[in-house]
Amino acid sequence: MKTLVIAEHQHDVLSPLTANCIEAANKLSNSCDVLLIGSKLDTIQKELSTLPSIDTCLLVESPKLSHPIAETYAPIIADIAKSYDVILMSNSTQTKDILPRVAGLMKITPLTDVIEIIDNETFKRPIYAGNAIQKVRYQAQHKLISIRPTAFKPTGETNISNISFKSIQPTIPQTKTSWVNMAEATSERPELTAAKIIVSGGRGVGSKDNFKKIESIADLMGAAIGASRAAVDAGYVPNDYQVGQTGKIVAPDTYLCFGISGAIQHLAGMKDSQTIIAIDKDPDAPIFKVADYGYVGDLFEVIDLLQNSMATS
Ligand SMILES: Cc1cc2nc3c(=O)[nH]c(=O)nc-3n(C[C@H](O)[C@H](O)[C@H](O)COP(=O)(O)OP(=O)(O)OC[C@H]3O[C@@H](n4cnc5c(N)ncnc54)[C@H](O)[C@@H]3O)c2cc1C
Repeated sequence: MKTLVIAEHQHDVLSPLTANCIEAANKLSNSCDVLLIGSKLDTIQKELSTLPSIDTCLLVESPKLSHPIAETYAPIIADIAKSYDVILMSNSTQTKDILPRVAGLMKITPLTDVIEIIDNETFKRPIYAGNAIQKVRYQAQHKLISIRPTAFKPTGETNISNISFKSIQPTIPQTKTSWVNMAEATSERPELTAAKIIVSGGRGVGSKDNFKKIESIADLMGAAIGASRAAVDAGYVPNDYQVGQTGKIVAPDTYLCFGISGAIQHLAGMKDSQTIIAIDKDPDAPIFKVADYGYVGDLFEVIDLLQNSMATS
């Protein structure tokens, strides 16, 4: 089974999501090829060399490819993918832009958001905001799959690949789309989807000012900050903090949440966290159904206690 992983990178750094895709590829075959598209790929090539189970890295390098414009990347991927049985991407924002175009060009139906690979043709993926798991028999000649990264955590295995690099120079499509700029929020805190600890707040936090207390707890713990959609909609925090079905999917070691009731759309984004600790004044809040530890009471009392104990330790 020939498997191709599409590498992702940003600011000349390999995205950790690529390692998750390689982990998924390992469930299908012992080694995979990786397709790396971009410009100035030297550092990323070195990073790829430290990952296990890669056979060949196909390099498509050109200054015209410095940004992942879907119209440009998709035809290149579709052309190369024709030589592979399975093409794997993470279900990142970038993939959501590129994958449908690749599928259209290859005239195949993609299978998205896979969380489990049972065998070469059988896959599982969540549906209805994670309320049901669908088992899919997928028999396409070329299987185009996006995986949910949190379901394929790299094992940290260090049998480094004896990777070979092969440059290829496909025709770079001329498109009407050009890259203007990227407006990014900068933060000293860990990136939400990669953080080991997330401290999250919901409507129960009550105001933008109160949310600063959540931020201070997060900073004391070296954690990323998350929020429910209600907290985002109320303007307590920017929308890139949102966790859930229409926000970010996270699976940290610890998810500590304050004043989040646990609506299914929120659970869809965090219920795979290793340890969930919930603080809510409503004992019937659905969050307690998924929490490993729960405290029924006022969140501000808990925040004060935490702040005091961390300040003295
Ligand atoms: C299509 C769709 C997509 C959606 N996507 C998302 C998504 O991606 N992410 C998301 O989060 N939501 C999403 N939602 C919204 C979701 O349905 C809920 O409305 C939202 O998650 C509720 O947020 P919350 O838990 O903060 O608010 P609430 O449900 O209002 O809960 C607030 C909680 O705070 C508690 N509380 C209040 N004061 C205190 C206090 N002093 N101490 C302790 N506890 C207190 C209350 O008991 C309550 O349980 C989506 C909805 C739809 C329809």
